[in-house]
Amino acid sequence: MALAAVLWFGETMSAVPLRNNKAGVGEARTVTVLGATGSIGDSTMDLLRGARDRYRVEALTANSNVDALARLAREFGARFAAVADPARLGELKQALAGTSTECGAGESAVIEAAARPADWVMAAVSGAAGLKPALAAVDRGAAVALANKECLVCAGDFFMQRAAKAGACILPADSEHNALFQALSSGNREELVRVIITASGGPFRSWAAADIEQATLAQALKHPNWSMGQKITIDSASMMNKGLEVIEASYLFALAPDEINVLVHPQSIIHGMVEFSDRSVVAQLGAPDMRIPIAHCLGWPDRIVGPSARLDLAKIGQLTFEEPDFERFPGLQLAYDALRTGRGATTVFNAANEVAVAAFIAGQIRFGAIARLVEATINDWIRTGNLALLTSADDAIAVDHGARKRATSLLPQIALKAS
Ligand code: NAD
Ligand code: MG
Repeated sequence: MALAAVLWFGETMSAVPLRNNKAGVGEARTVTVLGATGSIGDSTMDLLRGARDRYRVEALTANSNVDALARLAREFGARFAAVADPARLGELKQALAGTSTECGAGESAVIEAAARPADWVMAAVSGAAGLKPALAAVDRGAAVALANKECLVCAGDFFMQRAAKAGACILPADSEHNALFQALSSGNREELVRVIITASGGPFRSWAAADIEQATLAQALKHPNWSMGQKITIDSASMMNKGLEVIEASYLFALAPDEINVLVHPQSIIHGMVEFSDRSVVAQLGAPDMRIPIAHCLGWPDRIVGPSARLDLAKIGQLTFEEPDFERFPGLQLAYDALRTGRGATTVFNAANEVAVAAFIAGQIRFGAIARLVEATINDWIRTGNLALLTSADDAIAVDHGARKRATSLLPQIALKAS
């Protein structure tokens, strides 16, 4: 990686090369995986499995799946395993009996896992619950591979500043942001014109608005390219995920909303591009496999040998592109609006979307009502004078909780309203 890029990121991201301040050459790097039993966690553990001599596992966490957590802790000889559900401590201890793995349970144990001394932490808890654990890793100056986009969406006002202050290194693990991270090193901030993140368009890319309105859960869960957790798969179908990613890119790289464009690219081969002042556009390509951006974060600033399929463009034949449709996918417009509004609006956007997705999964609202609930919640939040700059995790969590309550109270009227 060019030194200039490191210095540039140093200003906004404090992306200090690991080999300068972490494990020395030949020494195993210690790693912690928050959300080890999820989709990103699974890809991360798969990469670690392929490089056992280079990495030693400090801590692993899960929400409630004790069996899967204990299996991983045993396999990797983890020093600490934490389950978020406090009622499962006994079960976890039993499952790890006879090993030297310490066990913990409850939110504080997940935070403790992040605070323990690992050089590299994968932040892959889903949702706003990932914020405090990620901050615990950030505050001790770790290298944090950030998959959890909600950290930036909920706490964008202060997350990166706090990372810079602690000397933490934020490595973007979301595929589009990882692509930008790789492409940005081709120029400096003054030379940047815009960044482009791609979107597959999801399963409803070519559907009529009326059909999207009535889409079922099974249809929403059929992502054409990526295999991911349930929440993010539904967000991809509504393009709320791309909205979250626009916000994520803005905070991560200190970009204005107008500097971030979304391009629909159904094959999901190009993940992100950066346009520079000389009109060069630098792109990152790869198969739609999360192990590729995670491998980049794991090896950074070097590259490791990844297990993913090699890209065969001749076989793929065609890469196609379309403008996003803000009318059929109103969530994308709402994300830009929330980003421009700031002062907690993106936190409300995320919280309302989490409530809406849970209500859709529970069969309480139609697919089309997800965006309507988010819009109604943000409007109500602004109308009642709640916008304020967020400066701490407690601020962000208070807004998150308040917005969830607001969204839940608006749910019945949104559920009744036809499109
Ligand atoms: P997932 O639902 O598959 O896994 C989530 C993990 O977090 C699990 O290990 C679960 O046990 C844990 N968890 C859930 N709730 C928790 C809580 N309250 N406290 C502690 N742990 C909890 O989700 P995922 O698809 O792996 O996504 C994880 C994060 O990465 C999300 O923020 C998502 O937006 C982001 N992301 C995912 C992908 C992907 O391909 N899956 C791509 C880019 C970004
Ligand atoms: Mg993504």
